Amino acid sequence: MVDLPQLKSALFLKEFKQLVQEGGLYVVNRFDHQKSMADLGVGEVKTMKHICPNCEKITNVQHIKADEDITVKGERINVPAEYYKCLECGGEFDDPKSNHDPLAIAYKEYRRRHGMMQPNEIRELRKRYGLTQKEFCKLLGWGEVTLSRYENGALQDDTHNTILQLIKDPRNLLDLIELQGDFLAEEKRKKLIGLLKDAIEETYTFPSIYSEHFGKYGPDILSGFKKLNLGKLFQAIIFFCKGGILKTKLCKLLFYADFRHYKNYASSITGVRYVHLKFGPVPDRYSYYFATLENEEKAISLDEINFGEYVGEMFYADKDPDLSVFSNSEIKTLIEVKEYFENFGAGKIKDFSHKENGYKETYDGQIISYAYADDLQL
Ligand SMILES: [Zn+2]
Repeated sequence: MVDLPQLKSALFLKEFKQLVQEGGLYVVNRFDHQKSMADLGVGEVKTMKHICPNCEKITNVQHIKADEDITVKGERINVPAEYYKCLECGGEFDDPKSNHDPLAIAYKEYRRRHGMMQPNEIRELRKRYGLTQKEFCKLLGWGEVTLSRYENGALQDDTHNTILQLIKDPRNLLDLIELQGDFLAEEKRKKLIGLLKDAIEETYTFPSIYSEHFGKYGPDILSGFKKLNLGKLFQAIIFFCKGGILKTKLCKLLFYADFRHYKNYASSITGVRYVHLKFGPVPDRYSYYFATLENEEKAISLDEINFGEYVGEMFYADKDPDLSVFSNSEIKTLIEVKEYFENFGAGKIKDFSHKENGYKETYDGQIISYAYADDLQL
């Protein structure tokens, strides 16, 4: 047997089915359906016998599915709506147990349109760093229940949303913890700072920033039909630095390796663009790459050598290159280029590179197209 309060809260067919399965046959007998309950699916049935909470008895009700406009901060958002209408008293009622919540759907859509964080994202952000809602609010200077409201679906106000967006960046959250995290237990604070520093290291390594900013071009004829591949570029640099190499020569070897590979296999190795500079072709933004390898990756080190007339910058590899990143043709090309220029000093290779058509036909600062690779002297 099923009692009335239980029935009132089970206005959805699905739950009726469940009640039936649990032995509430009493309910089924009261219904005047042609079909058995098991055959009925939501959406198929428009009119049915159902408990009306107003009439407090079983009446004919309509299950209505429609669209509804909900206004959120002056913006109209169309959401699907679902409700019941009693044909006896005209009363409309929702299914109290249904997950269908038009306002929640409207808020979700509003947040999506405006690039705002969703409640689950807010909760995940907080939990990632092991903070309680109370601690999180205190850190941000918010009222104690604010975060709980947001995590449960309330629409965050614009200022709060801006702050949430800012602390999604672990660098900002770290600043905040260091400035205002005194109230946290010392051990928790330390652990949190450790977590944040790891997250920062993972997310904001130099290579990832470079890829983000400088890797956006290509693949096209200026990059040898390849997207910038920092892994290959870095390993090629380390490969050439083995045993020591002057910076100007290093730039040329990279140029020859990429252009020669393009000439023979129709694609560059690293996806780097090369620029016409006074001393010959050099990788675009080479100084960033060299500095990253030196300071961040600790893979090469720089030594200044006095040649009397000028000071030369000499790079040494502090690691072995990882050649597994390259294809066979790429390794072959790197070795050929290194061997070809084995006995070339910086001056000789500079003069040699100045004879390249790709160099002669471009001007200072211009990107040298890989189309010139066909004319390469080697
Ligand atoms: Zn009614």
